[in-house]
Amino acid sequence: MEKKVEIDESLCTGCGACVAMCPARILKMEKGAAKVINQEACDMLGGCMYACPTGAIKVNRRAKAGSFFGF
Ligand code: SF4
Repeated sequence: MEKKVEIDESLCTGCGACVAMCPARILKMEKGAAKVINQEACDMLGGCMYACPTGAIKVNRRAKAGSFFGF
């Protein structure tokens, strides 16, 4: 199954904006970069993606297509 959230570590500056933005707390800072620690709990709100100043985060809307409601 496609990942809900992906982080391009080569673009991450370690600012922490995404971690602060996520209400589901699926991200954490580790060794100066953001890491996804709980894909399953992601609500796919997209706040991390919009908060990231470097475009390092991608929220895959298609990953939700297989959910019960299909959106
Ligand atoms: S907001 Fe972007 S640059 Fe900042 S820690 Fe998160 S992924 Fe890295």
